[in-house]
Amino acid sequence: MIGSHGKNTNFHAANSRKKEKKAVYCIRYQKWSNQMKKISLFFIFLLAVNIFSQELSIAELEEIVNAAERLGNVRARSHVHQYWQLADLYLQKEDFDHAYDIIIKGLQLDSWNYKYQKIASDIEIRKNDHIRAHNRLNFIINNLNEIGAIYNDSVRQLSIISNQNLNDSSLNLPGYHVYIATYPNLDPSVIDLLTARISIEYGLEVRTVNVGLYESETNKRDKQLEEYEKIIQDTYLRNPKNTIDNFLNQLGISNEEMNTYEGKRRYVYALLNQTDNGKRIWEELELVKGQYSGNALNAQLNSRFRNYLNNKYCLGILGVTSNDIYENTSNFLFGWTPKGIGVMSYARFLQGNPTSEQFEKRVVMQGFSSIGFVLGIPRCTSPNCARAYPNSLEEHDRKDDKLCTECRNNLRQLYKTL
Ligand SMILES: [Zn+2]
Repeated sequence: MIGSHGKNTNFHAANSRKKEKKAVYCIRYQKWSNQMKKISLFFIFLLAVNIFSQELSIAELEEIVNAAERLGNVRARSHVHQYWQLADLYLQKEDFDHAYDIIIKGLQLDSWNYKYQKIASDIEIRKNDHIRAHNRLNFIINNLNEIGAIYNDSVRQLSIISNQNLNDSSLNLPGYHVYIATYPNLDPSVIDLLTARISIEYGLEVRTVNVGLYESETNKRDKQLEEYEKIIQDTYLRNPKNTIDNFLNQLGISNEEMNTYEGKRRYVYALLNQTDNGKRIWEELELVKGQYSGNALNAQLNSRFRNYLNNKYCLGILGVTSNDIYENTSNFLFGWTPKGIGVMSYARFLQGNPTSEQFEKRVVMQGFSSIGFVLGIPRCTSPNCARAYPNSLEEHDRKDDKLCTECRNNLRQLYKTL
């Protein structure tokens, strides 16, 4: 069997949890902007500083964290240990406000870190923010499978603060609405479900409107051939010529045909479909054939619907497409949603032959997440929340299809200001 090694084909493990590392692949493109290069050089410099001095100061760690924040979630994750180092330094100084800020930033990247979830709840109890602490302690108790200091202390603290009056009444904002703007070729039953669930969860009226246009093709990209060629080149480098020749013979592909799109496609199909992981990569490659630019779709939605926002009771517009979307250096996106007008895609949610229930749950959770951004509430730190940042479809599937207390509190505060 001919081998293809993940790392050299630009398919990297994307999940932070070790046990899933092998199973989760995503395509990353190495096109770094100049800014990214500068930031990388900065990290190399700091690594050198770290080797010589062993310990970084608060100021140095602050700089690292600020630079990491500019990298975006995926890349910042590899620096999360430095977020924790910085938090520890603030905790040593008993500077709880700065410690809390940095812990919340860290938990947005690494929500399953029980130690810092617990420290965050300790600080929240100290600040009398019992609702947030309650939510966090429940999370620890429900998920942490080993009985130890963190678990025991969480149970003890939860029993103390549960006696407080936790006010989590339902959300309701009568009179206000958001729009779901539908591109062509969507599954209408999914849109019905999506709009109903958003309406119930957010306590808002949800209206549906047709975009009436196909997705803007501005900056549409096709990465498929490029990816095929990377994979082919990788196997040619990793395998002796006679192994490659035998494989091509088996497939009935001549060397001349390997210069054509169809020949390359057949080769990669046969190569990847030897294993389950390979099959998944093939599915992803099928999606990168026509990826639409998130910015281009948002520009299109803006020109079509911007005037809707002149109505003060209209809080935002979320476009929904069944086509795959990307932006900047991302390989793909579930949603691309600035405040006001944004877009989400359900192309990736059809991967792995999901049941309709699984598919709908994926769409609903993404809808909850995207509508939150359209309304302008921040991402939360609860890993089970529908709005938690998923690194992969597996992480997305593990979440609950409801909003956490933190998001509900943020919404309640927002609704009060309207
Ligand atoms: Zn949340």
